[in-house]
Amino acid sequence: MSSNNGPGDGYRHPGDGYRHPGDGWVDCPWGHRHWGLHGAAGLLVVRFDGDAPAAVILQHRSPWSHQGSTWSIPGGAAMPGETRRAAALREATEEAGIGPAQVRPFARYLLEHPGWSYTTVVAEAIGDWDPTDTDTESLEVTWVPVYVVPTMDLHEAFAAGWPALLRLATVQRDATWTEERP
Ligand SMILES: [Zn+2]
Repeated sequence: MSSNNGPGDGYRHPGDGYRHPGDGWVDCPWGHRHWGLHGAAGLLVVRFDGDAPAAVILQHRSPWSHQGSTWSIPGGAAMPGETRRAAALREATEEAGIGPAQVRPFARYLLEHPGWSYTTVVAEAIGDWDPTDTDTESLEVTWVPVYVVPTMDLHEAFAAGWPALLRLATVQRDATWTEERP
């Protein structure tokens, strides 16, 4: 494992460089290199069957991105002054064509390192729709049944968080999102 390949380095990184303010690397004292000067965020979209999570949207990252060719969720660096929720929704629009009106965020999962953190925003899909691959960084973006997720070649940080994320999606579906400060 290389020094920029730590378990907490975010779920994905752009391969084509810097697009927004806030893009950039942070070296944390635990020896990782993390993407996002103001932290990062991603969107886990869940489709329910009754009360149970049935499928989630995963993105197959392009071979030239960090941990290329693995599967993860749409996400990226937060911009200065941007809430994690806003960052996750913006990245999901940029990378998967997901509009803010198509999802209802209800829970968050925080991965925290000194000077850096990653927020996974867990959201319920509203209505029946498919994501679209709108970004050159991804090979494919698609619904994946929850029972298939653990069998896929996942980005290691997403793989580590998956059991907790699935639990959150199951037990907190009725929760209301509470906004945080940027
Ligand atoms: Zn770290």
